[in-house]
Amino acid sequence: MSHKLKIIFFSLYCLIVGCNHENNDKYSYRHSFQPIFTLSSDQMKGRKYDSFEAEISSFYLSSQFEKIGLKKCPSYKNYFQNFLTDDSIRVRNVIGYFEGTNSILKDEYIVISAHYDHLGVDENLKGDSIYNGARDNAVGVCALLEIAKYFSNNPPNHSIVFALFTGEEFGYIGSDYFVHHPPFFLNKFVFNFNIDNIGYDDRNSISIIGSGKTIADKHFKSSCDSLKLALINNPCPEMRLFEKSDNFNFYQKGVPSITFCMGFSSFNDSIKKYYHKVNDEYNTLDYFYIDKYIETAILSVENIDSEYVNTYWKN
Ligand SMILES: [Zn+2]
Repeated sequence: MSHKLKIIFFSLYCLIVGCNHENNDKYSYRHSFQPIFTLSSDQMKGRKYDSFEAEISSFYLSSQFEKIGLKKCPSYKNYFQNFLTDDSIRVRNVIGYFEGTNSILKDEYIVISAHYDHLGVDENLKGDSIYNGARDNAVGVCALLEIAKYFSNNPPNHSIVFALFTGEEFGYIGSDYFVHHPPFFLNKFVFNFNIDNIGYDDRNSISIIGSGKTIADKHFKSSCDSLKLALINNPCPEMRLFEKSDNFNFYQKGVPSITFCMGFSSFNDSIKKYYHKVNDEYNTLDYFYIDKYIETAILSVENIDSEYVNTYWKN
């Protein structure tokens, strides 16, 4: 399909999907959830990294970056970091950034990341066959966009890179490429705040994977306190979740990293009901809670950005 046709298709698509969902709740939310509705709609067919719908998702996300006013990385002509996978499939990450306002800290980069891909469609399933991935990880992408919106109005001290990765579900492909081909010097990356979700069963808490390694712990605690949420550190250690998201590629390169999750403490039946299942749909989410989750993420990043330190590693 030609580039022009793709854009026309995409614009029509946004028009249809954009009008599709109305939030009729009476409560007024701080944040917009449209990216969750769009990415996890059936039309996006589960955003498998090698699908046409993943490509459409990348166009949608780059239009969001444009709207927010994120800068394109030096030498990039758009927000796409295009590359070939090991089996020669053309895929892309979506990357943008804000430059820091502090004359010293602007040379240090905090990376906010979330994967936008999911599992696609299982043709063998009867009935619903689409892995919508609302929790995993449309919610994370939405949180990243809301953090970016916040910093567009409240310029950060450090430079902040916003990275939406592809291929997380099939071997952390996008983040692996990113850390090996970073748009800025890797040794200038001081912290990776990764956002990813397997689900939640506790609406009164936030879970952090990677607690105990960095000085950001206190910031997670204080931002949870201000939203009256509890903090769960390193849920289900037996699952080694620290090694099972994009944060681990940063950690392996020596960059302090955590993954910021909705509240859960064990891999129980209420998590399994949605985790990597076709019923992980946007109409099964509690938006009152998601709104607080996103706000906690923003406060946490704001606090991390306010640090003036040599390293975010805990001594
Ligand atoms: Zn995920």
